[in-house]
Amino acid sequence: MGQIVINGLNVFGHHGVYEQEKANGQNFIINIVAETSFEEAQKSDDLSKTIDYGTVCIFIKKYFEDHAYDLLEKAANELALELIYTFTGIDNLTLEVLKPDAPISAEFDNVGVRINKKWTKVAIALGSNMGDKSAYLDGAMEKLLEYPQIRNLKVSDYIETSPYGYTNQEDFLNGAAIFETILSPLELLELLNKIEDEAGRTREIHWGPRTLDLDILLYGDAVIDSRELTVPHIDMCNRAFVLAPLNLIAPGMVHPVRRRTIRDLYNQLVDSSKNEEK
Ligand code: ATP
Ligand code: CA
Ligand code: CA
Repeated sequence: MGQIVINGLNVFGHHGVYEQEKANGQNFIINIVAETSFEEAQKSDDLSKTIDYGTVCIFIKKYFEDHAYDLLEKAANELALELIYTFTGIDNLTLEVLKPDAPISAEFDNVGVRINKKWTKVAIALGSNMGDKSAYLDGAMEKLLEYPQIRNLKVSDYIETSPYGYTNQEDFLNGAAIFETILSPLELLELLNKIEDEAGRTREIHWGPRTLDLDILLYGDAVIDSRELTVPHIDMCNRAFVLAPLNLIAPGMVHPVRRRTIRDLYNQLVDSSKNEEK
């Protein structure tokens, strides 16, 4: 890994809340740190094997001139996404957008915003036990692929499993998927909920029949315990129907709280259920 650095890039744009900012425009200063792999470029000494900072500067200049947003937060976010989609070698991007001439009656060098976007490796669980189950799971994975915020999707085989918790219902088809995303955990949850809704998911009985269930298992090494989201998924280590398919595609992925690989956690679960049977 290395970092491409751009410091103090001067661009012009019409971003701002005030009418005079929109009408007259003003100067902005852009700073960037973009993490990328240098290995190929270091070996070959070939410009096409790296991110050409000259091209990046021209791209930013044009993007900033061609668009106009009220808030720097929005301008920075849109620009960061465009950079990540265009320069696909960027794994982690920190972007600052600063206004040296902001209309504020105080002395300052500049004011502005700094944001960070990075591709994070995620694991999710898939389940269905109504209708054409494999079509629901396949459909969800096709939807995910439509989003540019998601890349390198890998989906496990699906396995048939008996219902969990509420047992008076059809068997499940379960699977797992891994991918990289620049969505935040909550944005990802929102997207998964949207895909569930589009598959006609309703919630009547807890752990009851569903056309489609998509749970976030792991989000990088994040540990989250909020009202909407618990990551790593609170019950994943007790569920063979989650660990078995995940073990097929990501045995080396590490659970950040247990600090064990999926392979270890799966083997441990299989062993403990064998011992219970004895
Ligand atoms: P379980 O989570 O035990 O598998 P479930 O999938 O049947 O149960 P749902 O009714 O689909 O539960 O989800 C209930 C709520 O769980 C969601 O609205 C969501 O806010 C919350 N939730 C918490 N952590 C997660 C997670 N890691 N992935 C998905 N949803 C989560
Ligand atoms: Ca679930
Ligand atoms: Ca769920």
